[in-house]
Amino acid sequence: MNSIFVRVALDTPLDRFFDYRFLPADTETGLPPVAGSLVLVPFGRQEVIGVVVATMDQTGIAPDKIRDVIAVRAQLPPLGSAWLTMAMFAADYYQRPLGEVMLPALPKNLRVGKSVALDRALKKIARQSATGEMSPDHVPALNPPQQAAVNAITQQAGYTAHLLFGVTGSGKTEVYLQSAARILAASPLAQILILVPEINLTPQLEMHVRQRFPGMPVASLHSGLAEGERTLHWLSAHLGQARIVLGTRLAIFASMPHLQLIIVDEEHDPSYKQQEGLRYSARDLAVWRAHQLQIPVVLGSATPSLESWQATQNGRYRQLVLTERAVPDAVLPLIKIINLEREKPSDGLTPRLVAAIRLRLEMGEQSLLFLNRRGYAPVLTCDACGWISQCSRCTANLVLHKGDHRLRCHHCGLEQRIPRACPTCGNIDLQPLGRGTQRLEETLSAIFPEARVFRIDADSTRLKGSAAAAFERVHEGGVDILIGTQMVAKGHDFKRLTLVAALNPDAALFSQDYRASERLFAQLMQVAGRAGRTARADGGNPAEVLVQTRYPDHPLYHALMKHDYPEFAADLLEERRQAQLPPFMYQALLRAEARELQTALEFLQQAAGRINLAGVTVHDPVPMTMTRVANRERAQLLIESASRPVLQACMKVWMGELRSMKTRLRWSLEIDPVDI
Ligand code: ADP
Ligand code: ZN
Ligand code: ZN
Repeated sequence: MNSIFVRVALDTPLDRFFDYRFLPADTETGLPPVAGSLVLVPFGRQEVIGVVVATMDQTGIAPDKIRDVIAVRAQLPPLGSAWLTMAMFAADYYQRPLGEVMLPALPKNLRVGKSVALDRALKKIARQSATGEMSPDHVPALNPPQQAAVNAITQQAGYTAHLLFGVTGSGKTEVYLQSAARILAASPLAQILILVPEINLTPQLEMHVRQRFPGMPVASLHSGLAEGERTLHWLSAHLGQARIVLGTRLAIFASMPHLQLIIVDEEHDPSYKQQEGLRYSARDLAVWRAHQLQIPVVLGSATPSLESWQATQNGRYRQLVLTERAVPDAVLPLIKIINLEREKPSDGLTPRLVAAIRLRLEMGEQSLLFLNRRGYAPVLTCDACGWISQCSRCTANLVLHKGDHRLRCHHCGLEQRIPRACPTCGNIDLQPLGRGTQRLEETLSAIFPEARVFRIDADSTRLKGSAAAAFERVHEGGVDILIGTQMVAKGHDFKRLTLVAALNPDAALFSQDYRASERLFAQLMQVAGRAGRTARADGGNPAEVLVQTRYPDHPLYHALMKHDYPEFAADLLEERRQAQLPPFMYQALLRAEARELQTALEFLQQAAGRINLAGVTVHDPVPMTMTRVANRERAQLLIESASRPVLQACMKVWMGELRSMKTRLRWSLEIDPVDI
């Protein structure tokens, strides 16, 4: 029998494939590998798992050089051609070696060559979905805009990208569930992928889904799962057993042979963008994948990304609007602005805000104070000499964490004990400056000693499972005043919460980051959406959102008060159009870091010299806003084009040049960067 050859993608930074010979006698089953098979192959002195991308009857490698496949993972059905094509697209688009896209997308157990018992996996998922103590959900009758949305999503064959636009509580989730129900009912094999931005939201949605579809195999994929568990869920999706897959951004790479609908909830959320390694946007890949498979994709949000909003304006996406809150009698919260220039705060709280909290305590209702800064105070200072607590390794301040007596860098993790006296002049009266969530917690406990004050942020929920427990406590009513960072802004529907306050969100208005105001608006709308959704017994509207600001006339706050995202988006899009920024421009960013800033800048300068300039603009290399992190000096080079294909073609050629530069310095190229 003739030997065959396989071309294999391996998880190495080398941007090439590796050819091996396959001898049937050497493998577990003798079955030949096909494109998409996982194979165990020798690589240097190691044995590694790779993905077969092609089989051939000859190879350019000399017969005495070619090495043999050690084993084919024949018990695992090969990855489908659609999956391979998606991985190839991602590698191509984001300028990464294919192996570095494919292998990390697989669960670790498969990647390291652990053998997996498929039937055990299937049985376990089936068992999980059959635990039927679940009382089946009450399925509400859709209101007309919801019905129209479900029809639009399910009644047309082929690809359409839908932007489902509606405030929190307008019934988007209901549209997802009923669209899913239709598609699942219409085809016995159909699979549906639902992406959520945050791991803390998956259990909540999973519960909804399991209640709505009792007995239906559901897989969840997120980074919080133990490896064994993740492998089971991944396999269940890959084998076509799981009909619904729920997950965070990494789930976009799930292998789902019968995928028929993709839903991206809170599509504007920045966490859909991976910020290291393969810097992909799960939202963008979702749209690409739907197009490739010719299936519908639904992007849902109360505050869509400007990219998606613009796509509805020029007809690339179809806009579906939910106009009001779905529950009968539900009300939108009243958003009010408190002018900090007129009403002086003490310890960060204006008298009006304190009175509003007191009222909630008297009514037995909950308040949420949103402050997007953890720690006690962002910096410790000496009034005598002007010393401030700075990180010695970063261009950043050390944050005061009073509870555990530490100064801590939120960028490199550096920790110190709080000094007893000023390191420069010996003054023992060091002052915390500014306010973080811990300090706010202290202040509120002092003002309202009888209240149950509770804080949710990355510090208070460090232990595994503690975030879920914390949210549970709020839901159960064990909290009167909740303090939180953006962690509390997402997803949760707190029934007894009737007051939401943003303490001082102004910083984002003047940020260098041109996306900061887009994010702020989304964040404030989102946190406002946590407020209770039902009217008081007397018919009054209890849901109130107070925003303390020094800039009460800022257009962003005006649009916010009117709940008017379209107006806000129109203004911002016009600004972006005039400034020639995304979504009217496509960008790529080359970053470099070195011990010396000059080294990084010089590398970028040389790199810039190697770009073929046709159709692209190359800016000057500049230090990053936060120049130093962990003793590395960082700089960046921005490349822009009004045409995505032109930028793509240019980047592909350039990447080859960059790879040939043989520098020891660390660099990375990001396509469609979000943090510039
Ligand atoms: P969103 O995802 O837009 O925040 P949800 O789908 O979670 O909104 O809906 C908010 C609340 O309204 C939920 O409690 C949901 O069960 C309820 N709901 C949604 N649609 C309807 C409807 N057509 N009739 C009655 N209640 C509904
Ligand atoms: Zn001093
Ligand atoms: Zn640091």
